[in-house]
Amino acid sequence: MKPLSSKVAKAEASQTLALTALAKQLRAEGKDVVSLTAGEPDFPTPAHIKHAAVNAIEANHTKYTVNAGIPELRKAVAAKFQRDNNLTFEPSQILVSNGAKHSIFNTLAAICNKGDEVIIPAPYWVSYPEMVKLVDATPVIINTTEKNDFKMTPAQLRRAITKKTKALILCSPSNPTGSVYSREEIEELARILHKADVYVIADEIYEKVIYDGMEHFSIGSIPEMKDLAITVNGVSKAYSMTGWRIGYLGAATEITSAAEKVQSQTTSNASSISQYAALAALTGPNDEVTAMTKEFCKRREYIYNAVTSIEGITCVKPKGAFYLFPNVSAYFGKKFDGAAIKSADDFAKFLIKEEQVVTVPGTGFGAKNCIRMSYACSMQELEKAAERLCRGLKKLK
Ligand code: PMP
Ligand code: GLU
Repeated sequence: MKPLSSKVAKAEASQTLALTALAKQLRAEGKDVVSLTAGEPDFPTPAHIKHAAVNAIEANHTKYTVNAGIPELRKAVAAKFQRDNNLTFEPSQILVSNGAKHSIFNTLAAICNKGDEVIIPAPYWVSYPEMVKLVDATPVIINTTEKNDFKMTPAQLRRAITKKTKALILCSPSNPTGSVYSREEIEELARILHKADVYVIADEIYEKVIYDGMEHFSIGSIPEMKDLAITVNGVSKAYSMTGWRIGYLGAATEITSAAEKVQSQTTSNASSISQYAALAALTGPNDEVTAMTKEFCKRREYIYNAVTSIEGITCVKPKGAFYLFPNVSAYFGKKFDGAAIKSADDFAKFLIKEEQVVTVPGTGFGAKNCIRMSYACSMQELEKAAERLCRGLKKLK
């Protein structure tokens, strides 16, 4: 067999997807598994959105659409950006893709050259560094600390920028830490990016899932950042539409056009039916979004209190998204049945084997002392998870 792509060989497979698949497989085998893996709301997609998709099928909207998305949806996205984020885009500056993941990849493919550096604060969403590698650019990781709520400081950003820096990927609210940057913090980062002429890919997929009165602020709304910010969002999280695969970006015309070119030669348009569903989501009522966020907030309180009451575990309280990212390193070195837990991977494996609780180890997120627990699952599941976690950890000596 001839050698395959070395670039692909160097990239890691997605751990979030791998562990979600493992949890599904164990469940299919009849195991009583609690899965805290995927960042996937457990609510059904709201009824009016599902009806819009059924209507789209009935109306025969089942053919290719324009590559960048149906005009009504691009217009609705531009209106959403204006309404919610104070971002002004023409519909022609919007590109609709197969999920926000695809929007980010299209952007990276559109802006990066070989050897360009892309700054990523850690802990990061698993896919960012791997996507950067896949476009021949180099991820430059900034390690943030629990003490600083897992947020990068302006000094850290300044130090990381070199002549080769092309972009920063900024995710707020963050997957996996739940940290949210304040308006003032974002303004300070923006001053540095503007001075150095560095793009920012603002991943705002969790903007609606935010707590404690925090307000999401879009970096692209700062006038100086208008041409430097590529704002990415989607319907997966806010409207519980993960399987529909619709994400979108808004950016300067040149960037959107380049990303559109990448999409035109690789995947073409996102699903026509899903585009009509996304149109209903963005133009319809928002009460279910608000209700879901209220429920996530309740679950956050529960799981945060349960996990932090376990001896040795520390955790930054999330301000947004639906993940808890506890530091479990106090358990490293402890043993069960003679085998030592040496890492977050061992810790996660122990939880699967002994308690059938599936989490995602922090390794893939650039945080070797933590595990990620998604609380986008039901309260009963969370109660079971907390009980099993307490029971399991008592077995470690
Ligand atoms: N960004 C972040 C931070 C995420 O957690 C996810 C996971 N769904 C995505 C982007 C991609 O979302 P989707 O492709 O479902 O729109
Ligand atoms: N983004 C979600 C997560 O982090 C879904 C899985 C994925 O696309 O990585 O779990």
